[in-house]
Amino acid sequence: QPRINGHEAVCYYEARMDEAARDRRALAKDLWQAIARDELRVHYQVQRSVTSQAITGYEALLRWQHPQRGFVSPADFIPVAEECGAILEIGEWVLRTACAEAATWTNGAKVAVNLSPVQLTHPDLVGMVQSILIETGLSPRRLELEITESTIIGDKARALHILRQIKGFGVTIAIDDFGTGYSSLDTLNAFPFDKIKIDRSFLMEAEQSPQARAIIRAILALGRSLEVPVLAEGVETVAQLELLRSEGCDEAQGYYFGRPAAQVLDETAPARLTA
Ligand code: C2E
Ligand code: MG
Ligand code: MG
Ligand code: MG
Repeated sequence: QPRINGHEAVCYYEARMDEAARDRRALAKDLWQAIARDELRVHYQVQRSVTSQAITGYEALLRWQHPQRGFVSPADFIPVAEECGAILEIGEWVLRTACAEAATWTNGAKVAVNLSPVQLTHPDLVGMVQSILIETGLSPRRLELEITESTIIGDKARALHILRQIKGFGVTIAIDDFGTGYSSLDTLNAFPFDKIKIDRSFLMEAEQSPQARAIIRAILALGRSLEVPVLAEGVETVAQLELLRSEGCDEAQGYYFGRPAAQVLDETAPARLTA
């Protein structure tokens, strides 16, 4: 049994940290060039009404095809993009691409675009959103921005001011991954959001865990009393969909209805706007 003394353990740890930091820097460098090199794509995942199964929207999800690494998951590169600041440029590219694409859909469905908390540090996020809407001709009521609870903590007053101006155009705001963040009910109370998205983790456990079911039920009750629709993320099975139906969930999104894809296939199906 080899014994590692304290000093060696520290060196080993530091070497590993260096390696991780180097890799992050390399990834960040490539990320800055990803747009120019045409390596980014936007995929779309359908969102449906739980009762009628009518299409209510599509979530835009970023994809990166790296020339050497292959497909890199957004869960891995979005944090790097946020850390190095590339998320400002990338986020703008995603928004422009998704709005331009949605403007061509004949069913009039909404497009939901994820907004990083870092994008709220953009010197003119409001102007950027407005000019993209004008440029692409997409009706503001067909754009939804998904923010996480962490977007409204931090400089709360500034965040609320920016988001209210964007809402002023007619754009709607959904709270993504609800239940996993650190916002207080007080923060939520200060902000007139338009949709709650229940984090996938709750539905994943719902069938085995009465506790997860109780949390889903509580979020649905919150949505009902605030008169805000609730969407459940990560529906993979018909049993999960049935559970959501029996609990009165409004909308759902997940592999059961379809994986994110480059093409919106059923764009001619009737859509229902929730706002
Ligand atoms: P998110 O916004 O919560 O997006 C939902 C994630 O769940 C997506 O992962 C989607 O592919 C995945 N998903 C959907 N249905 C199912 C299901 O039934 N089962 C399972 N296991 N997964 C499902 P994805 O595309 O890998 O994105 C991960 C996260 O990266 C997103 O979570 C979002 O936080 C972030 N992200 C993706 N695109 C963007 C973007 O354009 N901008 C920003 N700021 N963040 C993005
Ligand atoms: Mg999202
Ligand atoms: Mg989510
Ligand atoms: Mg999530």
